[in-house]
Amino acid sequence: MKILSSGPYAIYMIGGGGMGVSHPTDAHIYVIDGGNEAAMIDAGSGIQPEWMCANLEKDGLAPERIRKIILTHTHWDHARGCAWWQRRSGAAILAHRLGREAVESGLWAESHIAKHGIPSEGAPVARSLEDGDEITVGGLRLKVIHTPGHSNDSISLLVQFGTQKVLFGGDTVFAEGGHGTVSAGTDFRAYLDSVRRLAALKIDALLPSHKQFVLSRAHEHVALLERKLAGRWTDVVASRVAFFPTWWLEHDPSLYDDARQPEAR
Ligand SMILES: [Zn+2]
Repeated sequence: MKILSSGPYAIYMIGGGGMGVSHPTDAHIYVIDGGNEAAMIDAGSGIQPEWMCANLEKDGLAPERIRKIILTHTHWDHARGCAWWQRRSGAAILAHRLGREAVESGLWAESHIAKHGIPSEGAPVARSLEDGDEITVGGLRLKVIHTPGHSNDSISLLVQFGTQKVLFGGDTVFAEGGHGTVSAGTDFRAYLDSVRRLAALKIDALLPSHKQFVLSRAHEHVALLERKLAGRWTDVVASRVAFFPTWWLEHDPSLYDDARQPEAR
């Protein structure tokens, strides 16, 4: 579905398990049309990817129009679909330098999928990204901001879209001051520093990888997370995680059957 447009440019949401847009195990997947080529932000879980592809075609976009697959980070619900999408579209995969090995090995050893003995497929990364890099998508330019915290390979992507500053926040920042999964291994200091950088951007729209997207005044949502992370960490970890990919798999084990029969849909 088209969620933003400006002149010849448009941004679509083609996947999102938590919003019922595609398979429950998918993170939100966006497509940016830059006028003469398009880029996908993340590639989903790779479970029933045909569902997402049908959404793309319903929006009038051929898969071959996607020339770049840009990963916000390499957790399996974002990146496991890379191999399928690369085959389908012929696009180049771009990921932060620290995520390259995960994508190319395709192991995702800590994922629920791997623990159930379901194999994954790696895919070659064409370009390793660094903080400050620029990615061209047709007439649009995406700025890479390295935002470690939720994972060390997390990036956010900023694009000036017409009059709006639009941020693809990955799992770093969600609406209403939400944040990605944190654990004993989380570097909260790095997370806070990352969110402070994002808060300083004063973004208009936030297109995150889970929960709802925000199309105006999104800087208020980022500022809320900044205040949370700067406060007591016990308040941070109390957040709800229902409707996330792993929650779905625990809630409905029949979803593993979808993963075992990827071509069934
Ligand atoms: Zn993640």
